[in-house]
Amino acid sequence: MNKSFLDFSLLHEAVECQAVQRPQQVAIDAGTHSISYMDLCDQMHRIAATLQTNGIQNNDRVGLLAGNGIEACIGMLGILRADACYVPLNPAFPAMRLGAVIVDAGIETLISVKKHTPQLLKVLASIKDFRGESLILIDASLDDPECLELKKEFAKYFENICGAETLAQAGSPSESRAVENNLAYVMYTSGSTGTPKGVMVTHRNVTSFLRWGIDYFSISSRDRMSGHSDINFDLSVFDIFGSFFSGATLCPVINVGDKSFPGKFIKDREISIWFSVPSVIRTLRNSGQLSPNIFAKHLRWAIFCGEVFLPEYADSWIKTHPTVPLCNLYGPTEATIACTYYKIGDDGFWDPCKAIPIGHPTSATEILILKQQSDEIADDGEIGRLMICGAQVSPGYWGQPELTQNKFTKHPFDKDPYARMYDSSDLAYREDDGVIQFVGRSDSQVKIMGYRVELGEIETILARHEAVDEAVAFLMQDEQALLVAAVSLNQGFSDSDFEKDILSHCVKYLPLYMVPKRLMFYSSLPKNSNGKIDRKAIAHSDFLPS
Ligand code: AMP
Repeated sequence: MNKSFLDFSLLHEAVECQAVQRPQQVAIDAGTHSISYMDLCDQMHRIAATLQTNGIQNNDRVGLLAGNGIEACIGMLGILRADACYVPLNPAFPAMRLGAVIVDAGIETLISVKKHTPQLLKVLASIKDFRGESLILIDASLDDPECLELKKEFAKYFENICGAETLAQAGSPSESRAVENNLAYVMYTSGSTGTPKGVMVTHRNVTSFLRWGIDYFSISSRDRMSGHSDINFDLSVFDIFGSFFSGATLCPVINVGDKSFPGKFIKDREISIWFSVPSVIRTLRNSGQLSPNIFAKHLRWAIFCGEVFLPEYADSWIKTHPTVPLCNLYGPTEATIACTYYKIGDDGFWDPCKAIPIGHPTSATEILILKQQSDEIADDGEIGRLMICGAQVSPGYWGQPELTQNKFTKHPFDKDPYARMYDSSDLAYREDDGVIQFVGRSDSQVKIMGYRVELGEIETILARHEAVDEAVAFLMQDEQALLVAAVSLNQGFSDSDFEKDILSHCVKYLPLYMVPKRLMFYSSLPKNSNGKIDRKAIAHSDFLPS
C-alpha cells in the first residue's frame, strides 16, 4: 500500500518510502547535477552506517558544514537516519561564531565537503584544544595524493576521517531506534546575551507543520520546490522535507549572488512552489525582474515568511501575477517554520492600504493573545502578547534550562499538566473575525532581510572591544533597514583611529548582516531616569545625524 506524508513520523522515513514508491523520480535538481530518490536513499544509508560505525548515539549532535546543495541534504538525512540530530553551520559565518556553536552544542562529529574545508579548518583552529570523534568529507577521495595534506591537517582534530572511499564501502545502517520526540536539529539563532542560542526541534515538531503545509498547498510529486534558504534558517526545512514528504523535486539555489537571481532561477527551473522572505519581492521589483506573468506558467504558490509582509510587496505581486496566490506565513524558529498563515485576497478583496494579517493558526497550533499585564485573554482588537501552543512548539533551548523555563511555560488553560506555551515576544491582536494581526516586538529583536537579529548581541560584541565604553545598535528604517550603532569610547581612544578596528572586530564574531553599516561616535550616550541607555531617545530624536 502506498504511504503518504501523513504516515511519516520521522523525517528520513519519507526518503526511504519515496525510494520504493518512485525510485527514479528526481529528488534534488541542483541545476548542473541531480539525484534520484533511490540514489538519495542509498547515500543517506551510507552516511548513517558510517556514523554508526564511528559510534554515533541516539540524539548526538552532528555539525553539518556543507552549504545547501545535494551533499548538504545527503549529510542531513544520514545524520537523521543514524538517530542523531543535525546542527547546521553556515560556511559564510565567521569561524569564531561557528566554533562557539560547536562548543555549545557539544559537537564531536562533523560532516562537510571539500569546498568548505578551508573554512572548517579555520573554525576548528578557533576552538581551544578541539579534539573530535569523526569527520566525514562526503566528496573527498582521501586516498588521492592531493588530499593527503588535507587528511594530515584534519588528523590533528579527529580520531577518524572518512571520505568518499569509506562511504563507497559502507554497508547498511542498523535499524532506526528513533522516536518522534527525538531531536531532528538544533538551529542557532542570535542570542541577546552575546552568544547564539540553539533552538531544539524534534521530528514531531516538523511533521506537525508538514502535515498542515503539504495539505494546504496541495504539494505533490509533480511540484518543484525552491531551495532558497540557507540550512541554518528554518525556512529550508519546509523546502527540503516538504519536497521529500510529497515526492516532489527540491531545487536548491546555488548562486544566490547572481544578479539575475531569483527571477531567472524561478523561471528557468520551472519552480512551482516558491518560499522565501517577503523582501525578495522588493529585490525582484527593483531589479526589473517582476514583469507581468513572468513566472505564471509554472508557479502555483508564492509563499512568504520570516518578516513583516508589507502591502506594497503584495501589491507589486498581485499587479503582475494575479493568478499566482500569495500566502503570508508567520512563526519563530521555536514554533517550527511557521505557525500561522494568511492567503492574501482570500476574503474576496485586496486593500493595499491595510496591513496584511498573519491570519490563522496552522492545524497543530493554538495561538493565545494574552493581555500585556496578565495571563487573561485579550479582548478582540486589544494588543496583547502572542503565545504559541501545540505540537510545533520546540522543547526549548539547548543547554539553557533557565531561558527555556522563562520562555516556555505551562499552558495557562489546558488541563494537561504537560501542555506548554511559548512566549514569542511578538505583539498582536485579533480582529473581530478572528484573524490575527501582527503589531511588532516587545523586545529589541529585529529582522534584517528575514534574518533574526538580537540587537543586544551586537552591543555585547561592540562592548568587548577595548576602545568601546558603551554601544547601542538599532535599525534606521528607510526603504531598506540600515543597521547602525551609536558608540561612546573609553578615555584615551579617538573615533577616527578606531572605527575600522571596531568594525573588523565585529566581522570576526558576527555574520555580515549583523555588522553595523555605520558607527556614530558620541562623547556619552543619553540615559533614562533609571540610568540605563535611552534607546528610544537615540533612535527617535535629533540625536542622530541625518
Ligand atoms: P525566526 O525565528 O527567524 O523565524 O524569527 C521569528 C520572528 O520573525 C517572529 O517572532 C516575528 O517577530 C518575525 N516574523 C516572522 N514571520 C513574520 C510575519 N509573517 N510577519 C511579521 N513578523 C514575522
